[in-house]
Amino acid sequence: MRLQGKIALITGAGSGIGRSSALRFAEEGASVIIADLDEVKGEETAADIRQAGGSALFIKANVTDPESVQALVAAAIAEYGRIDVLFNNAGISGVGALHEVEPEVWDRVINVNIRGTFLPSKYVLPHMMEQSSGVIINMSSCIAEIGLAQRASYAATKGAVLALTKSMQVDYAPYGIRVNALLPGTILTPFVENYLKQSYADPEEGLAGIKRRQLSGDLGRPEDVAQAAVFLASDESKFMMGSPLYIDGGVVFG
Ligand code: NAD
Repeated sequence: MRLQGKIALITGAGSGIGRSSALRFAEEGASVIIADLDEVKGEETAADIRQAGGSALFIKANVTDPESVQALVAAAIAEYGRIDVLFNNAGISGVGALHEVEPEVWDRVINVNIRGTFLPSKYVLPHMMEQSSGVIINMSSCIAEIGLAQRASYAATKGAVLALTKSMQVDYAPYGIRVNALLPGTILTPFVENYLKQSYADPEEGLAGIKRRQLSGDLGRPEDVAQAAVFLASDESKFMMGSPLYIDGGVVFG
């Protein structure tokens, strides 16, 4: 087991990539704290892990709210005594080219994707610094590098998360903490199903177009990203520091 005895906190673990990562982390021996706004889906992920014989705790949390995140971290520490891995996964998208984006939409996307990476890191880091160890995984996107039509606000946040990852790595390397970023391509989750509905008159045709732009010829699955997250969380990646890890079916070459 690659994460035996590790305590991992995953935000947005009620759905998609976060849920799949929580299940994989538990299979690899980690105890998983599932943080999500969505109580029903978060509880479901935790229940599925426990049913499979793993250890999981759901805590309702809003990653944009300092009080909520502080309570989340305090509850995780009270239950498990430490946090070895923080996976800043929760994120949302926003539709529109820049001139079309409403300021409220811009703020919401920036808030969840950037502030929602900042706050859990801010409140978990002191515990990792005291432990002199820890791993943080930040969810960026290949869009940070290649851009995407009609997703100005989202692209801006994922570029920011990548830059933040590198700066965090420099600041916290002296404490034995590694910080890396995941850059997925298009992964079939509710997030992408909504994107297809919002962006294409015919979502099936939109999906076919996305597939054509992948060297792989197909979309990724949440498990593809979860596998990469396990690798970054484990000591197998101990020489990776401040790195972007692409899981994108070769879309950056498309
Ligand atoms: P998803 O919509 O399936 O899951 C996101 C989860 O985050 C949901 O359970 C939601 O309730 C939760 N969440 C949203 N706002 C929150 C908040 N303020 N506080 C706590 N939880 C909150 O999405 P997904 O596709 O699994 O995406 C997960 C991450 O991966 C996101 O950061 C997304 O930007 C990134 N990503 C996704 C893709 C893709 O193609 N699916 C590609 C690249 C990057």
